Amino acid sequence: MPRLATQGIQPGLAAVLVGENPASQIYVKSKIAACEELGMASWLHAPPAGVSTASLLRLVQDLNEEDNVDGILVQLPLPAQVDSKRVLEAVDPAKDVDGFHPVSMGRLLTNRPGLVACTPAGCMELLRRSGVALEGANAVVLGRSDIVGKPMALLLMHANATVTICHSKTRDLPEVVRRADIVVAAMGKAGFVQADWIRPGAAVIDVGTNKVTDPAEGERLLKNFPQRLEKFRAKGSALVGDVHPDAVFTAGALSPVPGGVGPMTITMLMSNTVKAAKLRRAKTSVVARQ
Ligand code: NAP
Repeated sequence: MPRLATQGIQPGLAAVLVGENPASQIYVKSKIAACEELGMASWLHAPPAGVSTASLLRLVQDLNEEDNVDGILVQLPLPAQVDSKRVLEAVDPAKDVDGFHPVSMGRLLTNRPGLVACTPAGCMELLRRSGVALEGANAVVLGRSDIVGKPMALLLMHANATVTICHSKTRDLPEVVRRADIVVAAMGKAGFVQADWIRPGAAVIDVGTNKVTDPAEGERLLKNFPQRLEKFRAKGSALVGDVHPDAVFTAGALSPVPGGVGPMTITMLMSNTVKAAKLRRAKTSVVARQ
């Protein structure tokens, strides 16, 4: 960033938040706050929930043409009447800081430098900074979504892990997970991955972010964590990952929920915005893949 500043470049992120989904509002707010904290520019566009696809396409086009905007973030999910794929494909790939454009996905698939989806990129950063050996490791990715599971599997494969991708039709899931040195869980099912599925010492990245409100479920998941259980009882809800919290007693390392992958996702969004600014605007720009 200091080098960009000397060239008069302030990286900037434009966020598009449609409607009033409370979770999306919280996510976008924290992304804008992160920009402010880092001295980056940010803009919030908040069309109403009834917005048409055509009107969103016009907004994205305007942001594509605005030179000060380095990154465009269209917060998902979009309302049902909007053609989400068309809107995401309208984003200039040079400003695709979420890494969801087919061009970005194609670059990742073919292991070319580019903007990589923030959540999987953040998971890789967590693994690398925790000193987890990737080469030759058996890695199991639970989930095959375009935004988490698939790019995660590609990143692990490019890092020379041997990757298995699991989904709702996978047979003998516990047995597959038991063979893993690295588990990445991105299913959206609270506490689904049981502690005894985890091979002792395995590294576990928990991407899931599930709000649990059912008292019996909360008691079952948090029974070995008195402080969290007390908070759950007082508040009536808790955020729990896709991995049962008891896995912390078996795993060699387990990313916490909340406080693990979530903040890393925002960090990688900031990193992608700086990278996009460098690639598009800086005079000399050599940027390695994250
Ligand atoms: P998604 O699009 O709903 O995909 C879920 C995947 O899990 C699907 O591939 C599905 O299989 C698989 N799955 C569901 N039930 C399964 C089962 N019983 N056994 C095996 N696989 C199963 O979800 P997503 O967008 O990838 O998100 C996953 C989770 O990560 C959610 O909890 C989400 O909130 C969280 N997330 C967190 C962050 C963050 O910043 N922390 C960012 C993104 C997502 P099929 O393909 O067969 O249906």
